[in-house]
Amino acid sequence: MMSIRSLAGACLSAFAALGAFAVPASAQNYPTRTITMIVPFAAGGPTDVISRIVTAHMAQTLGQSIVIENVVGAGGTTATTRAARAANDGYTLITGHMGTHAASVPLYPKLAYHPEKDFEPVALLAGTPILILARKDFPPKDLKEFIAYVKANAEKVNAAHAGIGSVSHASCELLNSILDVKPVGVPFNGTGPAMNALVAGQVDYMCDQIVNAVPQINAGTIKAYAVATPERNPSLPNVPTTAEAGLPAFQAQAWNAVFAPKGTSPAIIATLNAAAIKALDDENVRKRLLELGSVIPQPANRTPEALATLVKNEIAKWTPVLKPAS
Ligand code: ASP
Repeated sequence: MMSIRSLAGACLSAFAALGAFAVPASAQNYPTRTITMIVPFAAGGPTDVISRIVTAHMAQTLGQSIVIENVVGAGGTTATTRAARAANDGYTLITGHMGTHAASVPLYPKLAYHPEKDFEPVALLAGTPILILARKDFPPKDLKEFIAYVKANAEKVNAAHAGIGSVSHASCELLNSILDVKPVGVPFNGTGPAMNALVAGQVDYMCDQIVNAVPQINAGTIKAYAVATPERNPSLPNVPTTAEAGLPAFQAQAWNAVFAPKGTSPAIIATLNAAAIKALDDENVRKRLLELGSVIPQPANRTPEALATLVKNEIAKWTPVLKPAS
């Protein structure tokens, strides 16, 4: 017969063994090598910039490098498909956004992934207000003139975007539907290159996430007609809101967030989420994000569960807006 002591010992080792099964060794030591963060757009755009700022800090916390891989095409859906199919071991992640993880759903009937079913949400990194921007010599001086101009010149004007389903595309679809105009769309691999074309005067206007625009607006290389949020942005105190400028119906704020392939272990997701939160609380990271106009998520919005809810709500919000346009 087993003594009480050896019975207790046996139970303990059984618990220890169970514990070892509950958290696989790979998750316990995670991360032991370089992590790849897929950015679904070209370098220099908002998704790339936000990813680089936050992952540089996360890498310090995790003790491993995080390498950014820009994978472009099809409005970010090429990269997102690749991330969905990657090994769910925590070594391939993606910085998605309102386009890849919401707007693309109604726009691509044959989308090869579903944002809710094929990913584990990790952490929201930033909210990014949308601005209506134009080349600096575009004739309209303010938003009222812009509206009149694009309506009067509907056949001639063009709008840059980062591919069908990208934030720049989806948010300008909303703007264009409110104005009832259909400009010629000019697709790029990201709003980094689209911004270069706007600065060079090769395209007329664009709706973009604020992060890309602040340095250019401050340098006077492009025009900003309005920010599509209820309040002005502290980084651009002279840019009116769409409500102030006469178009209250146009409200749009995008976001960027980290996702892992479905089935990534809860322990790995928790490790990554904690590293992302630590980055968002770092003074230098905050300063850089705020200078570029980003909205840093409040603590309640930083959990994987909150990100899951955001994705669900954003799909529900954008589907009726974009369905008729597809
Ligand atoms: N903002 C994306 C980028 O980082 C493109 C987009 O969704 O419009 O380039």
